[in-house]
Amino acid sequence: MEDIIKLLPDHVANQIAAGEVVQRPASVVKELLENAIDAGATLIKLIVKDGGKSLLQVVDNGKGMSETDARLSFERHATSKISSAQDLFNLQTKGFRGEALASIAAIAHVDMLTRIDTMDVGTHIKIEGSKVVSQEVVATPKGTSISVKNLFFNIPARRNFLKSNQVELRHITDEFHRVALVHPNIEFHFYNNGSEIFNLPKVNHRQRIAHVFGSRMTERLVPVEEETEVVNISGFICKPEFAKKSRGEQFFFANNRFIKSPYLHHAVVSAFEGLIKPDAFPGYFIYLEVDPKSIDINIHPTKTEVKFDDEHALYAMLRSTVKHSLGQFNVAPVLDFEHDPNLDTPYAYKEKGVVLPKVTVDADFNPFQDTVKTTSGKPAFQKQSAKGWENLYQGLDMEETGGFSSVEIETDTVVQGVMYSEDEMDAQAGTTFQLQRKYVVSTIKSGLLVVHQNRAHERILFEKFLGEITVKEGVSQQLLFPLELSFSKQDLAVLTEVRESLYNVGFAFEDLDQETVKVTGVPIMVSESGIGTVLDRLIADYKEGYQEGSISQAELLAEALSRNLAVKTGDVLDHESQLALVNNLFGCKEPTLSPRQKQIYTIISEGDIDKKLN
Ligand code: ADP
Ligand code: MG
Repeated sequence: MEDIIKLLPDHVANQIAAGEVVQRPASVVKELLENAIDAGATLIKLIVKDGGKSLLQVVDNGKGMSETDARLSFERHATSKISSAQDLFNLQTKGFRGEALASIAAIAHVDMLTRIDTMDVGTHIKIEGSKVVSQEVVATPKGTSISVKNLFFNIPARRNFLKSNQVELRHITDEFHRVALVHPNIEFHFYNNGSEIFNLPKVNHRQRIAHVFGSRMTERLVPVEEETEVVNISGFICKPEFAKKSRGEQFFFANNRFIKSPYLHHAVVSAFEGLIKPDAFPGYFIYLEVDPKSIDINIHPTKTEVKFDDEHALYAMLRSTVKHSLGQFNVAPVLDFEHDPNLDTPYAYKEKGVVLPKVTVDADFNPFQDTVKTTSGKPAFQKQSAKGWENLYQGLDMEETGGFSSVEIETDTVVQGVMYSEDEMDAQAGTTFQLQRKYVVSTIKSGLLVVHQNRAHERILFEKFLGEITVKEGVSQQLLFPLELSFSKQDLAVLTEVRESLYNVGFAFEDLDQETVKVTGVPIMVSESGIGTVLDRLIADYKEGYQEGSISQAELLAEALSRNLAVKTGDVLDHESQLALVNNLFGCKEPTLSPRQKQIYTIISEGDIDKKLN
C-alpha cells in the first residue's frame, strides 16, 4: 500500500499555529508589545487603525535585530529567548515559543524595520502570508518597528468573524492595559485612528494605574504588601466603597505577566467578604513575584493561565494580606451598607417623597349604626382598607416591612370579599399579594397566577427601553444641578459609543470627551443618588455583553438597563405596584420569558389544588 502521510508545508503549518496564537487583532498587539519589552525597550508606541483590522503597529527603541536575525525571527520556533528545555524552568522573558512572528506573518501583511545599536543601517523586510516579498538595507532608528496590515487577509472566515472596530479596539485596549500596568518604567503611547488615546510617561505603579484609569483612582487605592519565602505580594486594592462596578479593574500579575486565576480571585474576594455587597466586584491590582521554577506558564498558548506549585499556600497568604490591608488602612468603618431604596422602588413611588405615617380617624364613625358604609354593594371596605394600608407603608422603612404582613392583609380582603356577594368574587379576580418578597401571586379565574417579580419587571422594562431606544421617546428628568461623574477612558469610550441610545431612554450628558462627565438628565426611573451606580453597571454589563454575543446595541442596552433598574427579589412591593406589575407584564409582547430567557410565571389551577387536597 502506498504511504499517505506527508509533512505539512511550512506555510500551512504556520497558518494552523496562527489559529492558536492569533484570535483577533488584540492577540497581535499582545505579542508585539511583549517582544518590544523583551527587547529591552524604554519607549513603546502602539498605533492602531480601524480596530486593528487595517493596521497594527508597534514601534520600540529596544535592541533591534541583525539582518540575519530579522529574517530568522519569522521562522517557526525561532527564538533567542531559550535554547534548551531547561531554560523553560527559569523564564525571565515574556516570549519563549518563537511562534508569534511566524504565525502573524502567515495571516497578514507584515512590514518590519529594525536596527541594532552597533550598526549604521538596518533591515527592512516585507512578508505576506509567510512569503518574503523583499528584504533590503535601510536607514532607520535604533530599535524595531513592526506593522501588521490586513490581518486574516487569507482566511476570510476569520476576518468576517471579527467584531466591530470599537469592540476590537476594546480588546486591544485591554491587552494594552495589561502590559502597561506591569511596566510603569516604560513610556507608552497609544494612537487610535490618528489621535493619541494614551500617553503614559515613566512613573511608579500607583501613578501608572492612575494614568490608565483616571486620576480619581489614586484616592481609591490601598496598598498591599507582603514578603514571604514563597511569594512577594505587592500592589493595590480598591477601597470597598468603590467596589460597585469594576469587573474590568481586576488584575493579577505573576512575575510581571498578566494572569487569570479564578482561584486567586476568590482569595481576594473572600477577603472583602462582609465589606462589600455579594454582587459587587472589588477592584485590585496585585503583583505576585515567585521563583520562576515554581510557576508553569506553559499550559496555554496565549499564556494567561498559569500553574503555581503551591496554590493553596498562595491563596491563604493572598487572602490574609488583603485582609490585613483592609484592616490597616481602616477602610472598614467608613462603609455604608445602606441600600438605596430609591433604586429599587418601582413605578410611580419613585417620585413620591417619604410621607410620615398618617392615621386617619373617621370622626363620623358610629359602630352602633346599622348600615356600615357598604351601600352600593361594591366593596367599599376593600378599597378603603387597601388605601389605608398603603398610607401606612409609605412612612415605613421598606426593608423592614416583611412580605408576610402584606400577605396577611391581602388574604384578609379576600376573605372579606368572599363574605359579601357573588358579584364581588369576580371583582376579586386580580387581587394580588406578595410571597417571600419574591413572587407576586394573583388570583385569576382559573386559579393562582404566580409571577417572579424580578423577571417580570425586567421583561417590562426591557420592552419599554427597547421601544424608547428605537422610537426615541424616552422621558428625561432634567437635573437641577448637573452631576459630575468621572470615568476611565475605556468607560468613556463605551459611553460615547452608546450615547445616542442612552439619550433616547432619557440620559443627557455634557462634556463626554472629558474625564469628568456632566450628567444633566436621567430617565424618570433613575434616582439622583443612583445615577453613578446605574451608569457604572451599565458600562460593565455592556462590555461583558459585547464579549459574549452579537445582539444589537439597542438590545444590549435595554437588557443592561432593565437588569439594573428592575425590582429585585427581596424588595417589598406595595399593592399598587403588584397590580401594575401583573398588568404591565401581560401588556408585553413576550410575557412568558425574561430578557435572559427565564420563565416568568406559572399558573396553579384549581384542578392542581384539588389534586393536592384529595
Ligand atoms: P518569542 O518572542 O517567543 O521568542 P517571536 O516569534 O515573538 O518569538 O519572536 C521571535 C524572535 O524575534 C524573538 O526571540 C526575538 O529574538 C526577535 N524579536 C521579535 N521582536 C523583536 C523586537 N521588537 N526587538 C528585537 N527582537 C525581536
Ligand atoms: Mg514573542
